[in-house]
Amino acid sequence: MKVTLLGTGSPEAHVSRASSGYLVEAGDDTLLLDCGGGIFDRLLQSGRTPGDVTHLVFSHLHSDHMMDYARLVHARWDSGADNLDVWGPEPLAEVTGRYFGPDGALSFDLVARTELPQSKKVWQARGGALPRPWPEPRVTEMHPPFLINGNGWTMRAIQVLHAQPYLTCLGFRIEAGGKSVVYAGDSGHSAELETLIEGADLLIHWCYRLSHEPAPDPAFEATTPGHLETARLAERAGVKYLVLTHWRVQHDREEILSRVREEVADCFSGRFSIAQDLAEIVP
Ligand SMILES: [Zn+2]
Repeated sequence: MKVTLLGTGSPEAHVSRASSGYLVEAGDDTLLLDCGGGIFDRLLQSGRTPGDVTHLVFSHLHSDHMMDYARLVHARWDSGADNLDVWGPEPLAEVTGRYFGPDGALSFDLVARTELPQSKKVWQARGGALPRPWPEPRVTEMHPPFLINGNGWTMRAIQVLHAQPYLTCLGFRIEAGGKSVVYAGDSGHSAELETLIEGADLLIHWCYRLSHEPAPDPAFEATTPGHLETARLAERAGVKYLVLTHWRVQHDREEILSRVREEVADCFSGRFSIAQDLAEIVP
């Protein structure tokens, strides 16, 4: 298995961190976990094309996890690749329809591209056949606990605490070739999450809050663990490699990040790193 951290930031504009997106090459497949703003460009910068992704899987439908969804689907369609297989929580089918359905936001563009005579000629000149069908991602809504069986890998999905009741939020454990990778999504801690990460070779966990910062709200604090809580959780669960991600602009300063490194080293005995866009990890 190989993991490429495509986007390690948050919703805020950040010149060096795209929003959430993680590429996992497992077995014969290439999984993209989340597709927030900037992930499309990071995918290209990583040397892949939109057609290389075999499975797009959403942890949840916050914008910073899905803002480049339409761009990926549209570019893949325009390149002539097959329809994308997409998994995620409800209402993923409705979101997809609101982009690409007959009355979707992109329907005006798609009518023009598939009906305008000169656009049809351009499509034919590129080797395409007429009539030109619209993009139609194959959507599977995941109701956790949920299992995907891929070519040489499995993915288990559980629900994690984050933005309920408005959004269902998932965390994933991928097993392939005797290795395990957990992408916890945006996750509060729970016994179920602790079971999911048990003995994982790699845990990718968000760090939207630092432990010593005052939380603006008790519910926010409960669902948004700081770096120390996550490091202790990883230690208890026997995680071998912890990567903290989903960094906010105001935390992304060397003096803060080096303090995080020191404090995590005090309570976590495995490998640790601060996520960076385009970093590659072989667990
Ligand atoms: Zn979120």
